[in-house]
Amino acid sequence: MAVRARIEFEGIVQGVGFRPFLHRLAEESGLSGWVLNSSAGVLMELEGERPAIEEYVRRVREDGPPLSRVLVARVRYLAPLGFQGFTIRPSRKEENALTLLCPDVATCSDCLRELFDPADRRFCYPFINCTNCGPRYTIVRSLPYDRPQTTMAGFPLCPACEAEYRNVEDRRYHAQPVACAECGPTLWFETPEGERLSVDTISHAAGLLRDGKAVALKGLGGFHVACRADSDEAVLGLRRRKQRSFFKPLAVMLPSIDVARELCEVSGAAEEWLVSHIRPIVLLPLKPGAVPGKLSAFVAPNLDRLGVMLPYTPLHHLLLAETGLPLVMTSGNLSDEPIVADNDEARTRLSPLVDGLLLHDRPIHARCDDSVLTADDDGSCAVLRQARGFSPYPLALPEDGPSVLALGGDIKTTFAASRGHFVFVSPHLGDAEHLGTYSAFRETWEHYRTLFDLRPEAVACDMHPGYHTARWAEELAAELRVPLLQVQHHHAHLAALLAETGLRGPLPAIVADGTGYGTDGTTWGGELLYGDEAACERLAHLRTIPLPGGDAAAREPWHIALSLLHVAAPERMSGYADDLLSGRLAERARGSAGYRVSDEPDPSYSRPRAADVRLVLSMLAAGVNLAPSSALGRLFDGIAALLGVTLRATYEAQAPMELEALLSCGPDPGAPEALPVVEGGVVDWAPFIQALARDPGDTAGWAWRFHHWVAQAFLASLAVDARAAGSSRVLASGGCMLNNTLRRLLRQGCAARGLSLVVHRDVPPGDGGLSLGVLRVAQAHVCGSAQRGGALVRGIGNH
Ligand SMILES: [Zn+2]
Ligand SMILES: [Zn+2]
Repeated sequence: MAVRARIEFEGIVQGVGFRPFLHRLAEESGLSGWVLNSSAGVLMELEGERPAIEEYVRRVREDGPPLSRVLVARVRYLAPLGFQGFTIRPSRKEENALTLLCPDVATCSDCLRELFDPADRRFCYPFINCTNCGPRYTIVRSLPYDRPQTTMAGFPLCPACEAEYRNVEDRRYHAQPVACAECGPTLWFETPEGERLSVDTISHAAGLLRDGKAVALKGLGGFHVACRADSDEAVLGLRRRKQRSFFKPLAVMLPSIDVARELCEVSGAAEEWLVSHIRPIVLLPLKPGAVPGKLSAFVAPNLDRLGVMLPYTPLHHLLLAETGLPLVMTSGNLSDEPIVADNDEARTRLSPLVDGLLLHDRPIHARCDDSVLTADDDGSCAVLRQARGFSPYPLALPEDGPSVLALGGDIKTTFAASRGHFVFVSPHLGDAEHLGTYSAFRETWEHYRTLFDLRPEAVACDMHPGYHTARWAEELAAELRVPLLQVQHHHAHLAALLAETGLRGPLPAIVADGTGYGTDGTTWGGELLYGDEAACERLAHLRTIPLPGGDAAAREPWHIALSLLHVAAPERMSGYADDLLSGRLAERARGSAGYRVSDEPDPSYSRPRAADVRLVLSMLAAGVNLAPSSALGRLFDGIAALLGVTLRATYEAQAPMELEALLSCGPDPGAPEALPVVEGGVVDWAPFIQALARDPGDTAGWAWRFHHWVAQAFLASLAVDARAAGSSRVLASGGCMLNNTLRRLLRQGCAARGLSLVVHRDVPPGDGGLSLGVLRVAQAHVCGSAQRGGALVRGIGNH
């Protein structure tokens, strides 16, 4: 018996070829009816036998177009009306509906074939795209997603493109950025002096790159600065001009996955990400000995992983095909400022860094940096930075919640904003200390607010009184006339992981990172917490390290090394100081680690000045200007400096990254003899430091023992509390969870105890994911569920 079904699809169902797919599937299934785009998604009615309709919905969920993502499918059965055939009806706009938008997508294989086919009318056209690929988020000004609302509005379709756009059978049906050389954007080459050259743009740029020059090019969400990655001279030249720290790793774009395999170990999981339509930067383990001649050691000095991506725009494909070289492809900006996205901005800010610019006239409306992640053999991955390819895809929560705007911390700043059961986490904005990051925040927030009609009832931020983001939140709360809430940093990390996994607390959580303001005024970061969004307790933590000069000690890990010795092995201090000053310490580390880069730009990186050493020794002796911190990141810094690996840090997390890289330099001797001691909720590292200080020679061995010690310390601390000890699941979050070895050791340690370790998958464990957790804690507070006590949140009243 025939029935009529009214079906609503929600999710990413517009601008991704969804209606033509539904049309084809209806005809295949022998069902009649109609479909239309509504403000909330896609609405359709189908008539036919009920089992056929059920099968239809299943196939839409499972076999939909590559970019579609059905989050909700609501089906209601009604009396049949006797539809004939299947029609696509005009779009319908409703007030207050929420439309989701697809992220930017890497060039698809069909477009790639056409790009390199001399017979195709888009042969070598650097803006080729279709319904399955191309820009989305970065070109949309407002929704619904139609061409006049995008930065393609200024490019009227030529008859040939128009015909494809209107033809429901065509791959470019309703592909809003569709274009060709006749009607679409143009690419040109400009000198740093602003002269537009009439040359073959791609081959001219490729020639400069082959000659070791640097070129700025406009990508999907902003500019990159590129140079050949196999030349020391080119890479060092770029570093000097970009004022990039000598050591901070640069990402490379490789011509193919085969080149990636020549340089790096590529796990199955990593390959999936590399060739996916997201095409993020994936951190791949470098093959030992593969470097000389193929990759400059100055691309990722002292590290054992390389940030690799494959071409993701037609322009990249053309350029990489022409040069055939691995290219450094670093965000177009100075240090950790937001990525440059506008032609004039590029002329002003990037011209001094490069020998030429590849520009085009398709404006970037929303800037969006490259995403960065690691992918392990076991299929798990950790996201360092979420941006292009992910934004503005929302996270769906199990239930509706109050509308909140939340800001993360000052490093790797993002915001999160909720509506109904969706949370939108912004792309990576940069570090908040830069003025430009504030503008990027305001601009991106405005973009999200407009796209998704966000109306926060509260604004929330990190509790740290010194954070720039806390001031931005205060300003916004005043503008919006809503309450401001302050959330404890590590509670937010715990809540972010619950939100991502959909798990319900309370659960024990290992939260480890570099810094976070604690409720007792000290710095936290090596914590065992227990709780959920509404309430959270600190069960145990690492023994605090007195940081000479406070958090700034993170830039001078040798300060921390001296402090660790002062506490645990004062008799070793003068010997360590002597080795520091003579340079013996750095030499020993270099000898045992076989560092690929031994020349350093500034001798003080391996040999601090005597006056500075005296100053730190006197601070420790007098007990002045020492700020206590329980952060694991600082303990990593101190260990790296005790071993001579990283004495001074020039970028965030340099010491922990270099310490982890050291693991590949020697065999794993297993757990240390000095097992972690937990007393009164405090994990004491002093016995470990004593053992290390007695015999520090085996540098790589101590790096291994330290990783084991950390994993065991957190697992041992679970015993301090019956609830934590009785839980079958343990959460792990915070920036230290980007350490692949620590994650693996924790997982193994949990498995041996019959526990399962829960880690992040899609949300950054570091501060990039903080805004999501701040939002969830604030939501619980707004709902009143936080009343049952103990939530690490402070309300700052109404404005
Ligand atoms: Zn395509
Ligand atoms: Zn055209």
